[in-house]
Amino acid sequence: MINNLLEETGSPLTIGIAGHTRPDGDCVGAVLGMYSYLSNVYKNAKIKIFLEKPADMYSFLKGFDMIDSTFAYPGQFDVFFALDCGDIDRLEGAGKLFLGSKKSIAIDHHVSNTGYGDVSHVEPEASSTCEILTRLFEDEYMDADVAKALYTGIAHDTGVFRYSCTGPDTFMALSKLVKFGFDGSRITDETFFQKTYVQNQILGRSLLESILFMDGRCIASSIDRRAMEFYGVDSKDLDGIVNQLQITKGVEVAIFMYETGTLEYKVSMRSNGKVNVAEIASFFGGGGHVRAAGCNMNGTFYDVLNNLSAHIERQMETSQ
Ligand code: 5GP
Ligand code: MN
Repeated sequence: MINNLLEETGSPLTIGIAGHTRPDGDCVGAVLGMYSYLSNVYKNAKIKIFLEKPADMYSFLKGFDMIDSTFAYPGQFDVFFALDCGDIDRLEGAGKLFLGSKKSIAIDHHVSNTGYGDVSHVEPEASSTCEILTRLFEDEYMDADVAKALYTGIAHDTGVFRYSCTGPDTFMALSKLVKFGFDGSRITDETFFQKTYVQNQILGRSLLESILFMDGRCIASSIDRRAMEFYGVDSKDLDGIVNQLQITKGVEVAIFMYETGTLEYKVSMRSNGKVNVAEIASFFGGGGHVRAAGCNMNGTFYDVLNNLSAHIERQMETSQ
């Protein structure tokens, strides 16, 4: 229960909440779900949310307008929560607020979590941080706003209840949430499946230009800055491309990367299970989960691919 995590703090008067850089559905859901929940528990507390601006499609969630993306705060928080974030660097500007708080609590499901909080509650088997929060939250303080946010997060990190991380506990959590009554299919349609025209265009282009290698067991594609400028897209518009690459028949590992600077790429990897991509991403300074991970890498597209392939090949050899 969340109250156990808050032991010794009594009733906090100031609470900070943050999540990882480039927040995805689980991160946004966890942060806003926590915000709504804590607002119900601590009616007199001042609660602040620090997060890079999420995609507008999440604006239906309560607390979205309260998100502070400046990370500027002069004081010290009684309690600070870091959610869905594997390491302190990925908290970006919120890192120093987290470390400077009286009690820092990290709640996460990344296997690569470095244990950077005063309390680090990490469940690597959980589908999502939102699944963990659903278990930690007490019914009494939950409402439809909390439930909608947590449902959104679980839906996103499970690929709408399909990925192998979806287990019996995930469905138990979902059953606790759906009782609050909201339109779940509308949430998944509008935040997960629906794409803008340009998002579909850039997805199509990534698929057209993808390359298969290692006898069809790996697929890779990249988008450079010129293409992003041409289509008028930012990194949020590229979410989901790596998952589409991954469902190519015969593929074990999918790699998608986009250029973030000269000879700099943000890399996303997905695996069907034989290859542990968290291990590879961690080797290159990133992290994530066994089947979904990411990192930043330098070099040309082919340099990056060669570096990653060596690790993938080694793991494939040893797993045979
Ligand atoms: P995505 O490929 O969707 O950006 O990320 C897949 C998973 O890996 C997510 O759980 C995400 O938090 C994690 N991840 C992606 N990039 C990084 C990174 O640079 N460092 C760490 N620690 N985790 C990452
Ligand atoms: Mn997550």
